[in-house]
Amino acid sequence: MLRIHDTRTGRAGQLAAGRAVRMYTCGPAAGRRAHVGDLRAHLLSDLIRRVLERQRVRVVACRDIADAGRPAAERGHDDAFVADTSALNLRPPEHRPSAGENVEAMIELVAGLIERGHAYATPDGPVFFDVRTFPSYGEISGYRLDPLEPAGPGRRCHADWALWEPGEEGWESPWGRGVPGRHVGCSAMSLRFLGPRSDVHVGGIDLRFPHHENVRAQSDCAAGHEVVRQWAHSEHVLFDGRAMAGAAGNVVLLSDVVAAGLDPLAVRMAFLERHYRARLDLTWDTLRAADRAVRGWRSRVAEWAESVSVPLSQAHVDRVEAAFDDDLDTPAALRVLRELEGDESVAPGAKFETFLHLDQVLGLDLSTDIGKPRLPPPGAAELLAARARAYEAGDWARADRLREELAELGVRVSDTPEGQTWV
Ligand SMILES: [Zn+2]
Ligand SMILES: [Zn+2]
Repeated sequence: MLRIHDTRTGRAGQLAAGRAVRMYTCGPAAGRRAHVGDLRAHLLSDLIRRVLERQRVRVVACRDIADAGRPAAERGHDDAFVADTSALNLRPPEHRPSAGENVEAMIELVAGLIERGHAYATPDGPVFFDVRTFPSYGEISGYRLDPLEPAGPGRRCHADWALWEPGEEGWESPWGRGVPGRHVGCSAMSLRFLGPRSDVHVGGIDLRFPHHENVRAQSDCAAGHEVVRQWAHSEHVLFDGRAMAGAAGNVVLLSDVVAAGLDPLAVRMAFLERHYRARLDLTWDTLRAADRAVRGWRSRVAEWAESVSVPLSQAHVDRVEAAFDDDLDTPAALRVLRELEGDESVAPGAKFETFLHLDQVLGLDLSTDIGKPRLPPPGAAELLAARARAYEAGDWARADRLREELAELGVRVSDTPEGQTWV
């Protein structure tokens, strides 16, 4: 059974079995293109889903689109994001609510919080959440209220945040025209689409505070109980050792990876190489290495596909599945697969079945090269032709020399009654 580290309690908890698991993932930040680092949290949701579905647990996922009141040009970011998620083989969520279409639910949530004494309106100012009415505030991130910090205008406490902000633009509400506060949407949409109890809320580590603290406070105070059972966070992604930022000039989009001639799933592979709770420092070198690794496995799978069919290696499957169940230990899972790849005692047909079976969770499209005519690497075609001639002419010494040259290019030649073959 899948166990996932819960950021709030600091313990690994079992994600429920035998019924649907409800999972909320915060959508990408509004107003900018999502970069490869942003996609890591969404891979985390996808792995949770794939592992659970393999265990026959139904997953109901919700991911919001943060387009409330955004100009049309920025809504194009949502389409680009969805294209990125499908290029990364992330399965689409069941619910994709947009903030702009759920303002009414947000207004209801804010009204309910005022009614229950957790929020207060200020004259001509915002409606604030009254953080001191929620004593367990800070449990996710370890944040502690500083009782000495001055509250600031209109607020009862410095850490109170706006649930509704008045403005000329926006929507009509009991507190005048305005827009919902930036944390309200995720509470309202999670309660509306997943119900009053959900199993796991997923996001990047930078959302832990204040976003998730505020979402938790709003949801719990509206529902009157702990709404989310577990919080799961993926660690930061750096590029060339620094946080990806426009100012640092190191923002890499998935489309940049594709433009560099790499498979988009190289990014998925690079993510899998590192545990989701460990910081990941990407470079073009690591992406190229991940690309080679994915392509290498695809050609091995295609090669094994031509062998006699035998059942998969249950021992290896069990070890990989145990690694996934243990808080998604993907580096351990990949180590087992590499061990299997090189294990001469396992029949190629069994390797084929095992890799394909586990690709249901890996999501690396490992079967794509099966049955495809394989092209020899650059320079190998001439050598193969020369060797075939040497072999036919009985020039064994020359045939052997050419075999060695081909091996250096990664091409393994064998001689069969039908002639020379290579892999
Ligand atoms: Zn979130
Ligand atoms: Zn959110």
